[in-house]
Amino acid sequence: MTATRHGKGRTERAALEAVHAARAAAMGAFALLAESRCPDLAARLELAIAASRASGFLPERIAIPAREVTPEGGLPIRVVENPRRVDPNASAPLPPLAGRAFCPLCDFPYAQMVLPVELAAGSFRAAPSPARYTEADQWTLATRRHLPQRLEGDAAFAGLLAAMCDLLTEAPGMLAGFNGVGAGASVRGHRHFHLLACPDPGIFPVFRLPGEGVLGGAVRLSGTREALIGRIVALARSWRACGGAEATENLVLLREGEGFRALYVPRRTDREALSGLPGIKGGFLEAALRTVVLKHAEDIAAFREGRLAAGELDRALASLVPPEFAAWAEAAIAQGEIPTGD
Ligand SMILES: [Zn+2]
Repeated sequence: MTATRHGKGRTERAALEAVHAARAAAMGAFALLAESRCPDLAARLELAIAASRASGFLPERIAIPAREVTPEGGLPIRVVENPRRVDPNASAPLPPLAGRAFCPLCDFPYAQMVLPVELAAGSFRAAPSPARYTEADQWTLATRRHLPQRLEGDAAFAGLLAAMCDLLTEAPGMLAGFNGVGAGASVRGHRHFHLLACPDPGIFPVFRLPGEGVLGGAVRLSGTREALIGRIVALARSWRACGGAEATENLVLLREGEGFRALYVPRRTDREALSGLPGIKGGFLEAALRTVVLKHAEDIAAFREGRLAAGELDRALASLVPPEFAAWAEAAIAQGEIPTGD
């Protein structure tokens, strides 16, 4: 490398560092303002949405069509049409600082107002989500530091679950969902989960049914924070022992009375795509909440015209269930890890 190119590189890096520093200062000012105006977390989260909308990062609130269809002899499926995503003009990311790869969270645009969230289980940042998965407001809760999304060991699972529970306690009326690597996770580099405003959990078919136990490819549990964390950690351990390197999962948590309701969904990394719906990955919405988000115009047209029928959507969701699931669940029920009563 020549001396001239060195000099140019240094100038560019200094300019980029200045831009990143200014971005960080703007975020800090927003966070302070949000803190001073809104003592509770739910209100601060809403303010981050409002500010991201005012900046042009998020589109105006629009009605996103959602309809329920029921396959013959099956459980209802919620179908969401996802017609609009983030404004590309407001979402151009900063180039990454020299010496590290692009990170969609560290290099987020100015226009996305990100809130620091301090939980006993760790320091997080809440970013209003640029994707419009449902009509509800949504955020990505990501660890402040870079941490792998893949959860290895009981402590990693317990830590993530504790963070999800604590966040739901501080910000009621929300639903927290986790996508493992190869199970719908899209952000690399930061361990993260998603938060949806969910004043009425009954919009999701699975929450209209009482009880615990196996339903489709999901395990339904409820209980107090500590009891639930312990049970899910045990299930994850047993699923990892069964599925090996391909084992991954989705998790969903919701407040219920003084405790929580949870869905643990064992997945395989080689079964991430919804069969028959090219380009659609199965995350917690699909695998746990039986919600199919159609984002391609041709899928939306096919659904509206009745060419994409309930039976086909049901088969697409069923394709996410690992072949080992039934045997694993049977063994877990026999061991008392999964309750049978409902
Ligand atoms: Zn990052």
